[in-house]
Amino acid sequence: MTPFSTLGLNQPLLDAISDLGFENPSEVQEKAIPILLEKEKDLVALAQTGTGKTAAFGFPLIQKIHAESRTTQGLILSPTRELCMQITNEMQLYSKYVKGLNIVAIYGGASITEQAKKIKKGAQIVVATPGRMKDMIGRGIVDISKIDYCILDEADEMLNMGFYEDIKDILSNTPQEKSTWLFSATMPKEVAAIAKKFMHKPVEITVGEKNVGATTVQHEYYVVGGRDRYPALKRLADANPGIFSVVFCRTKRDTQRVAEKLIEDGYNAGALHGDLSQNQRDLVMNAFRKKQIQMLVATDVAARGIDVDDITHVINYQLPDEIETYTHRSGRTGRAGKSGISMVIVTRSELRKIKAIERKIKQDFVEEKIPTGIEICEIQLYHLARNIKETKINNEIDGYLPAINDVLEGIDRDELIKKIVSVEFTRFFNYYNKARDLNSGTAEDKGRSGGNDGSVRYFINIGERDGYDWMSLKDFIRDSLGLDKDDVYKVDTKGSFSFFNTDAAFTPLVLETFSDLNVDGRRINVEVSNKPDRGGGKRKRRDRKNSGGRGRKSSSSFKGKKGKSGHGRSKKFKGFV
Ligand code: AMP
Repeated sequence: MTPFSTLGLNQPLLDAISDLGFENPSEVQEKAIPILLEKEKDLVALAQTGTGKTAAFGFPLIQKIHAESRTTQGLILSPTRELCMQITNEMQLYSKYVKGLNIVAIYGGASITEQAKKIKKGAQIVVATPGRMKDMIGRGIVDISKIDYCILDEADEMLNMGFYEDIKDILSNTPQEKSTWLFSATMPKEVAAIAKKFMHKPVEITVGEKNVGATTVQHEYYVVGGRDRYPALKRLADANPGIFSVVFCRTKRDTQRVAEKLIEDGYNAGALHGDLSQNQRDLVMNAFRKKQIQMLVATDVAARGIDVDDITHVINYQLPDEIETYTHRSGRTGRAGKSGISMVIVTRSELRKIKAIERKIKQDFVEEKIPTGIEICEIQLYHLARNIKETKINNEIDGYLPAINDVLEGIDRDELIKKIVSVEFTRFFNYYNKARDLNSGTAEDKGRSGGNDGSVRYFINIGERDGYDWMSLKDFIRDSLGLDKDDVYKVDTKGSFSFFNTDAAFTPLVLETFSDLNVDGRRINVEVSNKPDRGGGKRKRRDRKNSGGRGRKSSSSFKGKKGKSGHGRSKKFKGFV
């Protein structure tokens, strides 16, 4: 193994490394440091978090900076405030023996004046989130026109979070003649495009295999009907009583909705997404770390930095659009040498996505069945018995024992056990007794989707004149109701009104949701329509795919603000000895 001393690092850095107790360079450090120290080159490094990549760019950067000059020479862009602070802290530790070097973090959600003061004192290295950086350049607070090094850390994540334009703007304020080092866990086409546009013949290094998920993770999928996702999620939780999981949803709205429903249904759940304040996110994460929360429902962006090792299950409540995102999600479990399970709840129409993921991660999925009610009752019963066996006796009870004995007089052991177990078990039994099979494709399921529910047509008092076409109106209705795409159908927009259908089971929800809803000051009115829908029958038609742009209102009024923060990253170190 190559020791640090052979990589070309100078004494102040080697001393800091020795203080930090790093014995040997990690793979990414071994590969990147000599390249970056040797010549002024652009670099693309594919490395996951936890591989030691901060030091891989941090050591060479610190060595190359002229600490005696006050000019800003290095800029590190990172997706989140947490990561930004983490990089700054690490870099300060690495440069503890470099006199006069100032490394300043600038990120959103904190006082800009304080940050401006620190920059003013002279910061040779600035570590920044793109939004705040752009803001500070705009106000003339920070000057990056003379930098020699620009590092894009977790580039895939920055692009995922919608920072492309900000990054482009920031880079346009930097000199042509500089070295750009890009670090990314994955290489989706957007990252490749950035590398192509802003970098000159970059050297490429890869740590581990590209886009391959951890092999300690077993991948499973469960096929259910679109509207059975939530009951399926509950069953997966109930069938795994010791579960400690992250449940991934696609949108902030779904994340909030699923978490709220779980809490209502008595689960230890919490939501993590970008519409929460930093303080709220910290509270949720602390509760999760302490395992007070067993099911953390999260968006991809917010969950990226979860640095918790013993997550037993990752549950994909919905599949992500990008396969790379699936790799990130499943990588939250199976860490630190432990095994983990990544479960995907899918509908039949999404099955091809499973095939695509299998090809990419080079691992097979196992098709599993959502447990039946009786299976869950059985699991819970044994779990309960084990819990009773393992429960530590509280001796405070001793004093009350004679009185309790009096109450329980005459009940034999078997009966007593049955009674104790029933206290908890009956709750599950009542809920799951006669519960239907949720697995899609079963006779029961076909019966249901075959139209037994009936279909209801509604009138709604908004239409084309309000800027909607059928697609955007469908999105608006679906979002307002919190339903799946296929649950709202036969959407027909007219001038000032429209029609749509749902299954009869959703009628109370539809009428209730729209009974008190205003959009831009206008009252939305929905009524059950007497007008027969075009084409008659009960089966859903697949809506056309190609008509026009999105409606103005659906996107402006009902979508949350863009979340630009909400996660740090893994502090855990893995992958080398
Ligand atoms: P990173 O991938 O940069 O987030 O690094 C993950 C963690 O590994 C950080 O806490 C670093 O301090 C630590 N680390 C980085 N390089 C080494 C090394 N060569 N040996 C041991 N720990 C390291």
